[in-house]
Amino acid sequence: MTTEIEQPARTIAVLTSGGDAPGMNAAVRAVVRTALERSARVFTIREGFEGMVEGGDRIQAANWDLVGGILHMGGTAIGTARSDRFRTREGRLQAAENLVRAGIDSLVVVGGDGSLTGADMLRREWSSLVEELASSGRLDEATAHRHPPLSIVGLVGSIDNDMFGTDTTIGTDTALHRITEAVDAIASTAASHQRTFVVEVMGRHCGYLALMGAIATGASWVLIPESPPDVDDWEATMCARLKAGREGGRRDSIVIVAEGARDRHGQPITAEHVRKALHERLGEDVRVTILGHVQRGGAPSAFDRYMSTVIGHAAVEELLSAPPGGEAQLIGMKDNRVTRQPLMECVEQTQKVAALVNAGDFAGALAQRGARFESNLRTLRTIVRALPHPVKPGQKRLNIALIHSGGPAPGMNTAVRASVRLALDQGHRILGVRNGFRGFVDGDFREMAWMSVNGWASRGGAELGTNRRVPGDRELYSIARHIESEGVGAILMVGGWSGYQAIHKLRAERERFPAFDIPMICMPASINNNLPGSEISIGSDSALNSIVQAVDKIKQSAVASNRCFVVEVMGRRCGYLALLGGLATGAERVYIHEEGVTLADLQRDLEAMAEGFRQGKRLGLVVRAEEANPLYTTPFMYALFEQEGGDLFDVRQAILGHLQQGGDPSPFDRILATRFADECVRFLVREAESSAPDAVFIGVQEGKVAVTAIEDLPRQMDMKNERPRDQWWRALAPIARLLAQPGPSGG
Ligand code: ADP
Repeated sequence: MTTEIEQPARTIAVLTSGGDAPGMNAAVRAVVRTALERSARVFTIREGFEGMVEGGDRIQAANWDLVGGILHMGGTAIGTARSDRFRTREGRLQAAENLVRAGIDSLVVVGGDGSLTGADMLRREWSSLVEELASSGRLDEATAHRHPPLSIVGLVGSIDNDMFGTDTTIGTDTALHRITEAVDAIASTAASHQRTFVVEVMGRHCGYLALMGAIATGASWVLIPESPPDVDDWEATMCARLKAGREGGRRDSIVIVAEGARDRHGQPITAEHVRKALHERLGEDVRVTILGHVQRGGAPSAFDRYMSTVIGHAAVEELLSAPPGGEAQLIGMKDNRVTRQPLMECVEQTQKVAALVNAGDFAGALAQRGARFESNLRTLRTIVRALPHPVKPGQKRLNIALIHSGGPAPGMNTAVRASVRLALDQGHRILGVRNGFRGFVDGDFREMAWMSVNGWASRGGAELGTNRRVPGDRELYSIARHIESEGVGAILMVGGWSGYQAIHKLRAERERFPAFDIPMICMPASINNNLPGSEISIGSDSALNSIVQAVDKIKQSAVASNRCFVVEVMGRRCGYLALLGGLATGAERVYIHEEGVTLADLQRDLEAMAEGFRQGKRLGLVVRAEEANPLYTTPFMYALFEQEGGDLFDVRQAILGHLQQGGDPSPFDRILATRFADECVRFLVREAESSAPDAVFIGVQEGKVAVTAIEDLPRQMDMKNERPRDQWWRALAPIARLLAQPGPSGG
């Protein structure tokens, strides 16, 4: 028999420091609530390290409700500051005294590399600071010696996405939302006047926002710190490219400049410099927009809310499981998985890029950013061209049929645009098939030219048309005939489940129809995120943002009364949108088909809801996936809650419906679509050379793009419920449950 040694209860404090970033509130909420549920004591420290130095009411015991109603807010509700006092030992001594007096032994610091460096310094100095406090009589010896060493966990709050150890930092995704909203808006006015705009975005050492902003908006040119133009007269190249774009029919020209952009000699390139160059050399009316602090502001995106929630939760788990005073860890997220790495190693790696840029070693800086950054840059360089590279003499040209299938998913047009340009640039042709497999059967093709997809990066819907038709047995003959008559050498299907079924069918019928012996690939595009072989599908992030925005409004409508909302979201039998939507909006309960719904569940949830209202809650929210249960429908749940809520609360139902499939694609979906397009075109071109070409579906799995043979479909899919057997996001359900309502130990 083993005896468990009980860990002493911890006292955790959370603070936000340095520049504010949307999503910080979600992290603070998750830290406080997880700590309470784990029976730890928890404090918030207001105004960052400055508050820690000041002490008093800046260090405040936190309870469940203190962090209620902040999830959807931008900025940081507990304040942030820059603190010069904390940079001095005297300041840190004072901070240590305040922490010991409050009994705080563990810190979750949400900030940039400066804040995290400061926090680690405090941890390293801790024993000497406490020693000094005791020997000088500021703390009594017993208190000082009883106090455990300080433990630190860092979460990166920085809109620049400039930190090692995590794919994205808190606030980056929201900043990209602000950038795409602004650039989309500017593009429409620019197109009206055939005007050129220079847009400056944040990023002193890191071109992430500029690069991704350019990919997401279809900008015409981009200038970033890590990759300066490789010639001195870069203005001439830029102007020539913009001019060619105009001549090719592009009505809007947009140049995105990172604030830290520079030339190859290290001289800054300002937005004003770019404006002057364009004005003088093209004789055009050029306007500058500096986005500035708009990029920091506003409501956090769905991704920032749920990522910050998940890593905030993980930060507390880390503190509770690690020995006191150990090496500080940075909690981040890579490919939807929580990661932990030594904090100072991440800080050092991060600072190395800035040093390389400053030293003019741009190749080094770019390499340090990682392979994905470089490949994004390469892709961007192709798709911003005004014309494809000329076809090489004697080159074998592949005709790729590009088709949609399934429900509309925001990002489909972005995928088409990128596929067309990447294929054309390599000398191949794209035949757009209209209206899904119906169009294939009817031979409704059109060859897509470079400029035919101009402006599609940001456009919602599906210009080529889509539907859920899976070709019937007798229609296969027509498809085979069109493949032969049009000389189709490959098929790229961008869409959902029906498209996967169709490609599976074509693959299975190769014996009967040799025309199907060509490479085929499915690119996952479905808001439901219910496709095999990919952790994420194009469109689901946009849908999630639509849900989050709708629920924000619904919640605001209920300020005056005790009200509970039952919100129904799409997803069929896949609970992704419901669970992630619930996590990102702070729903008390999420009902999904995977978990099932029983009467006992409903009774228990109803009682918990009623108890919440009795305790003073004014707003309740439950999210139900559309096919969570065929009989316990949304109207049924509405009726049940309404009847049982009595005088305590009233109930409203909201079925969000098709607004989830509409709208412009989110930046995340645009970037994902572009990345997939690159991989799909490469795959098809490569396989076309093979004597036994594969038919596959593509996806992201643990951060890497991977393809799976279409024959594997029945093994990977729960065919009856039309969802993958393995759903990584199910692991988030306990976190959603834990943060939604105080349990017996919470509050
Ligand atoms: P960010 O965290 O966004 O990088 P700053 O670099 O301004 O922002 O850091 C925020 C605060 O963290 C500073 O005002 C200071 O109080 C503290 N800090 C930063 N660097 C250090 C350091 N090297 N030593 C001690 N404290 C630091």
